Amino acid sequence: MTGSGSGSGPDSGTETDALSVTIVDGYVDEPAHFGVPPYISTYPRYTAGALVDAGVPREKITYHTIDGLRDDPDRWRAVDDADLMIYLGGMTVPGKYVGGTPAEPDEVRKLAWTASGTSLMGGPVKFGVGDENAGATETERQDLDFDFVAKGDVEAAVYDLVESGLEGFNNRMRDIDEVSRWAQEGAFIVEQHPNHPEYLIAELETSRGCAYRCSFCTEPLYGNPSFRPPPTVVGEVDALADYGVKHFRIGRQADILAYGGDGEAPNPDALRQLYSGIREVAPGLETLHLDNMNPITIVNWPEKSREGIRIIAEHNTPGDTAAFGLESADPVVQEENNLNVTAEECFEAVRIVNEEAGWRPNGPNDPTADATTGDARPRRLPKLLPGINLLHGLKGEREETYRHNREFLQRVYDEGYMLRRVNIRQVMSFDGTDMSETGAEIANEHKKLFKRYKQQVREEIDNPMLERVVPPGTVLSDVHLEYHQDGKTFGRQLGTYPLLVGIPGERELGRTIDIAVVDHGYRSVTGVPYPLDLNGASMDELTAIPGVGDRTAGDIVVNRPYESVTDAGLETTIELDEFVTTRPFEHAD
Ligand code: SF4
Repeated sequence: MTGSGSGSGPDSGTETDALSVTIVDGYVDEPAHFGVPPYISTYPRYTAGALVDAGVPREKITYHTIDGLRDDPDRWRAVDDADLMIYLGGMTVPGKYVGGTPAEPDEVRKLAWTASGTSLMGGPVKFGVGDENAGATETERQDLDFDFVAKGDVEAAVYDLVESGLEGFNNRMRDIDEVSRWAQEGAFIVEQHPNHPEYLIAELETSRGCAYRCSFCTEPLYGNPSFRPPPTVVGEVDALADYGVKHFRIGRQADILAYGGDGEAPNPDALRQLYSGIREVAPGLETLHLDNMNPITIVNWPEKSREGIRIIAEHNTPGDTAAFGLESADPVVQEENNLNVTAEECFEAVRIVNEEAGWRPNGPNDPTADATTGDARPRRLPKLLPGINLLHGLKGEREETYRHNREFLQRVYDEGYMLRRVNIRQVMSFDGTDMSETGAEIANEHKKLFKRYKQQVREEIDNPMLERVVPPGTVLSDVHLEYHQDGKTFGRQLGTYPLLVGIPGERELGRTIDIAVVDHGYRSVTGVPYPLDLNGASMDELTAIPGVGDRTAGDIVVNRPYESVTDAGLETTIELDEFVTTRPFEHAD
């Protein structure tokens, strides 16, 4: 089948080395692939690499994000002028984002109208376009007035299209050799991302496809898992590091534990090659996180999985999250939607990840700790914790489903384990998945129930769980300050599912600071600058400490300076020594 559309091929006279190309990133969010800033997905990088491989000079390739186009209308000229304009985008899971706003269908259409040259659309947008990126919606595939829509891999389409003199392409998937070349050759494009270099995290692909067939999921549309061998991923990290990337997430796969195996069972040797290889080529990396891990792999192969989890925890950076797709703890929903893990099995997997990777650097149980410095460093986030994804509106959902889910979460909490995050969503329905018949009907019927339950989980689980994961005094380093609201500054670390941190006062945005956690919301924390100097802290910062009211804070300010924290004679409900000082501390590591 050839690429759809008119295939105008207006520039058949243009030599490849004179071809100008503009890539527009409308962002992607798939079950196992994320690309909303501060993330950059694989699509623009691979596409740029395919262009270079096909003979387009790097300097003729321009990359813009949709937010970049919104911020500066002059940039639309690059869309208009290019011989080839490539739009990359598509959301196949619902979400709300702080770091960027995905392209709306109207904007995507405007891109096609604006482009004077050939236009091509690709990425998960091929699975369908909803009116909005929200749960309880249905989608349909639209061409949005583009000349070509890549129904296979967009990077392969781009390569073939350029090779054909912009005449057309066959829809196909790229092979491992191609992706290995293109991933490295396209790394240069990150320099054109507005967040480069400091606030950018590169999503890395280790495999596509899945061995399972959950009713709602688009990942099986990529077929059974096919893995990229360690040297190709490591080579890509090497190239990205050369272009200044310091933050990485191994997020483009259905199950990191299955990496390099037979599709289902873990292969710890492959994981070790992958992780140690990355550390070797990017010794200065600041973030190394992952995304998905399938709990059924842990339950079916516990010993190999324990080994794999230990390898990950040895090489990753703190605050890493293994997102588990439990989706529903209700056996009826599990059965009707072909879900692969029961609540009992998922509980077992939660326990194992907690046991093997729930330690904090330099805390108790840190297998790598240097005993001589053990107590001298602040408390950090745990190395790797499970996250739980729950999905509502699936076939067979009933009122008891909500009870089953709450009971599961309560049990995890009551038995003393940690979860880094509970992600609750309503289903989006896509053609080609089993959910397309049911659509959003059940999700819509249960909207009220869903809302009440979500609030309950926030109050009864998320809040106390957060207190367990980041007790007062926990230090989060390099929090990027993103926006102001209600007299506070909000920011996040770079990484997988970062915690939102509210800091008293309006601080300069775009900077990073280390903070110490002092209080907890449902899914966010309050932090004060670390270390908090009693001789310099503002009233707002002092009153953020639980137990310090306006009057006490006023007394602290009036009676400055202090020789030591004890000197101030503060009575608070939390341990101050861990983060309060009266002298400058060293920068957190
Ligand atoms: S296990 Fe199910 S939800 Fe996860 S990627 Fe595979 S099919 Fe999708």
